[in-house]
Amino acid sequence: MNSSDRAKRLDNKQIFISYIVPAYNEEDVIESFLLALDAKAKELSQQYEIIVVDDASQDTTFDKMLPLSDAYPIKLLKFSRNFGKEIALSAGLEHCQGDVAILIDGDFQHPLDLIPEFLQHWAKGYDMAYGVRKSREHESRIKRGFAKFFYRLMGKITKVNIPPNAGDYRLLDRCIIDALNTIEERSRFMKGIYAWVGFKSIAVEFDVKKRAGGTSSWSFGSLAELAITGITSFSEIPLRFWGFIGLVISLLSFLYAVYIICETLFFGISTPGFATLIVAITFLGGIQLLSIGILGEYIGRIFNEVKQRPLYILAKKIGFD
Ligand code: UDP
Ligand code: MG
Repeated sequence: MNSSDRAKRLDNKQIFISYIVPAYNEEDVIESFLLALDAKAKELSQQYEIIVVDDASQDTTFDKMLPLSDAYPIKLLKFSRNFGKEIALSAGLEHCQGDVAILIDGDFQHPLDLIPEFLQHWAKGYDMAYGVRKSREHESRIKRGFAKFFYRLMGKITKVNIPPNAGDYRLLDRCIIDALNTIEERSRFMKGIYAWVGFKSIAVEFDVKKRAGGTSSWSFGSLAELAITGITSFSEIPLRFWGFIGLVISLLSFLYAVYIICETLFFGISTPGFATLIVAITFLGGIQLLSIGILGEYIGRIFNEVKQRPLYILAKKIGFD
């Protein structure tokens, strides 16, 4: 579709929009969120579907949504267990039929007012419009610090250009949806994958709102895990790094050996140093364990990929024909 077609279809409200909402333990907000989203969706287009992926919530989220699926164009997928937000989004993308998909959190943190702006960019010819947080002031200093460090590190060690502070709130054109659906990786770092598929994209700034209710399900541990997934699935530098360290250490040892030989030849054998030995042994032992640990991190991920398990298991599928 060229951009004048896109603009025309947007003006005539003839674009089919798929809204994809991951939901995990959102019983406090999900009902009002879906009603608000539906109202907004009606304004923007005659054709739309809202796909909610229930990531096996332990509360009443699913029961609250069930009646809505009769009255509104709301389709439900329920996972058999918690698979995580990234996989929930992938499931939604696999099941959506729209010309464009809009990925949006079900907790009101992503302002609905941004959607028309996303669509305007789409009409101008952008295949992806993604929300970028203006500030992270709701978050703790430590979390912000780590986020900043992470994006800088990723910028240095990967070839894909991951925009800092971009989240999952975004609009994807059909060409991107199809591209994403061909990706079979099991450990998914979506922020990286969006950047990896390419196409023409544009950033749109917005203020992240406070959660309307419930709690964020990201702990520090799960964020660290996500960061490691991001690094290991987009960079081989941690692997290569140890080759470099090995080279440097070998070189230094060689020079030291030459020095010892010369010293012995010219000044005779001095009393051997006990401290030097211990330091060398523990230092090298530490370095070897560290590098084996990094290797293990990658091997674990290879193991995970070769098992070829499905990305998710559905327990329920409602509203799809
Ligand atoms: N979510 C999910 N599975 C999970 C955790 C979260 O589907 O295991 C959903 C959640 O319901 C919400 C979105 O992902 O719609 C973002 O989660 P959350 O608000 O907890 O994260 P934050 O906004 O703090 O990044
Ligand atoms: Mg949230």
